Amino acid sequence: MRDLALLPKAHLHLHFTGSMRVDTLAELADRHGIRLPHVLLDDDPLVVPAGARGWFRFQRMYDAARACVRSEADMRRLVAEAAADDAAEGSGRLELQVDPTSYAPFVGGLTPALEIVLDAAREAQAATGVEIGVVVAASRMRHPLDARTLARLAAKHAGDGPGQVVGFGLSNDERRGTTAEFAGAFAIAHRAGLLSVPHGGELLGPEHVEQVLDHLRPDRLGHGVRSGEDPRVLERVLQDDVPLEVCPASNVSLGVYAGPGDVPLRALVDAGARVALGADDPLLFRSRLVDQYRIAREAHGFTDAELADLARSSITASAASPATRARLLAGVDAWLASAPAG
Ligand SMILES: [Zn+2]
Repeated sequence: MRDLALLPKAHLHLHFTGSMRVDTLAELADRHGIRLPHVLLDDDPLVVPAGARGWFRFQRMYDAARACVRSEADMRRLVAEAAADDAAEGSGRLELQVDPTSYAPFVGGLTPALEIVLDAAREAQAATGVEIGVVVAASRMRHPLDARTLARLAAKHAGDGPGQVVGFGLSNDERRGTTAEFAGAFAIAHRAGLLSVPHGGELLGPEHVEQVLDHLRPDRLGHGVRSGEDPRVLERVLQDDVPLEVCPASNVSLGVYAGPGDVPLRALVDAGARVALGADDPLLFRSRLVDQYRIAREAHGFTDAELADLARSSITASAASPATRARLLAGVDAWLASAPAG
């Protein structure tokens, strides 16, 4: 077995607040005099039984954590640490999702909030060697006109250079909002050349995936893990060649599946889906990027050759430059050619 932290990969599903280290959260809460739900600092803050609808608990804790990020220095620190942690796990390309709305009041508005993240991403890329693209994510909990405002802001910073915006997403509770009403925002993002990377098909099933496909024209799907519950919808995902950002630990923590072995990772890969594993919110799920590959190995029996294929999928599904892709893919070949340890 080869060391999964040395396997070059791309990380395409990680949220800004959710990437925070637990120690950092504790420190920021202390500095700002905020009392956190103590469970947030526990070993396992979230795991709920399957079917117990972990979302509301998740949302409460996520909001509490986000409330601790209230200065430019805090924001810069999160980006720097996310990049450093990704680098330690073999990620050569990070696409970090941020909704600047919550931080805007502390730094003078939406534009500075995003520009701080972009500038911090440039610095973190230089410091760690991890190439970072930013995904601006709108929230389903807000009005679709807010999503358009964010799309226009994202469009202004569109590009594939260091610390530029590469994509536009839609996150938060899938059961809220009407997917079709966000089509206008995605059209703005699309015209600016941004990737469409909305969430869909985690809390809700294939009918939701279909709505997202119809209205938001995704280049990748955040989760989409339940597409296979309707063979016709999975066929559309395959036909349209939409990679799925599958986050097994997130699925289990939110009660979508009973255990890591119940996530239909093997079935999706066998069906021909392009899967990019992601950690989603390691702060709450206590499971980082390498842990997702470990789940594939230990709960689904993926061989090192199959794990290398998962890493290749993550790289080719990313918006990395051709040179970065080639470098990372060559690294995957070298990993597989190296002698297994133990
Ligand atoms: Zn997510």
